[in-house]
Amino acid sequence: MKVGVLGGGQLARMLALAGYPLGQDFSVLDPGHGACSAAVAEQLHGDYVDQNLLTKLAEQVDVVTYEFENVPAAAVEFLADKVPVYPPQQALAIAQDRFKEKTLFAELDIATPAFAAVNSLEELQQAMSQVGWPAVLKTRSEGYDGKGQAVLRQPEDLAPAWQMLAGVAAIVEAFVPFEREVSILAVRSTTGEIVCYPLTENTHRDGILCLSIARPDDAMQAKAVEYAERLLDKLDYVGVLALELFQAGDDLLANEFAPRVHNSGHWTQDGAVTCQFENHLRAISGLPLGATDVIGHAAMVNLIGAIPASEAVLVNRHAHLHLYGKTERPGRKVGHVNLCAQSEQDMDAGLKLLLELLDA
Ligand code: AMP
Repeated sequence: MKVGVLGGGQLARMLALAGYPLGQDFSVLDPGHGACSAAVAEQLHGDYVDQNLLTKLAEQVDVVTYEFENVPAAAVEFLADKVPVYPPQQALAIAQDRFKEKTLFAELDIATPAFAAVNSLEELQQAMSQVGWPAVLKTRSEGYDGKGQAVLRQPEDLAPAWQMLAGVAAIVEAFVPFEREVSILAVRSTTGEIVCYPLTENTHRDGILCLSIARPDDAMQAKAVEYAERLLDKLDYVGVLALELFQAGDDLLANEFAPRVHNSGHWTQDGAVTCQFENHLRAISGLPLGATDVIGHAAMVNLIGAIPASEAVLVNRHAHLHLYGKTERPGRKVGHVNLCAQSEQDMDAGLKLLLELLDA
């Protein structure tokens, strides 16, 4: 089986690495040369909406998937006429628009912060009585890692925040004083079977994920699974989906979902019976899904901007290094380290040393 991937970054690279043992080959479409998946997959270079290129990709592969949610909807629509594309177009279209996403959460009775769509400063001013203070203003589309967002604490914040967004369609939502950010990774097969990984607790720095810790037996697991199952069934979903949530007290509020493999699931490569990349490929290829249990205790630390000496990381016997073949640049994800240990003590000790090494 040959799998086509839209986007040639580290997620495409790790999909290919997980797919070879299953006897799969990969063809990746990416506009840039030197994409980090180039070492492990055939590359097609050009625009995502180049119909000749998309036709070529469709002719080469049995199924297409994508590694990021800002892939143009037109590309997926064009491909879907020629070859199965998973996750489905519907999921992508909703994930590309924060207002549609939150509207779907509300429709499915998945708790989410109060929200309103706003298209002008006047609408923003009016929406504040519905949403309440403090609030967060976000672009409806194309925002990621906290970009295109502003926190609103007082009426004077509204005009500058609206100007910063440069007049694009936006959503304003209640600011959640959360205790934890967590995500649940769920996988649905072509036959509707669903499996979920244990809840992952996530820590961000400057809007970028830096640490994920697997939390098997978490008190919020059942609620998160219930939300994910509702979402996957409604979307007739196939593949891995990451649902990001805030925990405030006993409330679990959905922030957003990513219709793809996700950074907060990288720990599964070494810490789960079946990793998220393999399970995504199994799902989109019509294969049975693999078990999602944690092996011992697992965590992941992102390498952001700089690559440490391999020796310094691997001196810890519980560490696994995953480098993406990228050059160092401030703020760029260049790799990650998974830590897996049988005892919680070993895991915590390893994590402490690693965070010290990375000054994270
Ligand atoms: P997002 O792009 O929606 O994932 O937001 C990026 C980060 O901003 C999240 O990981 C949170 O740390 C923070 N954030 C986003 N929305 C809210 C909110 N409604 N309340 C509090 N913090 C938020």
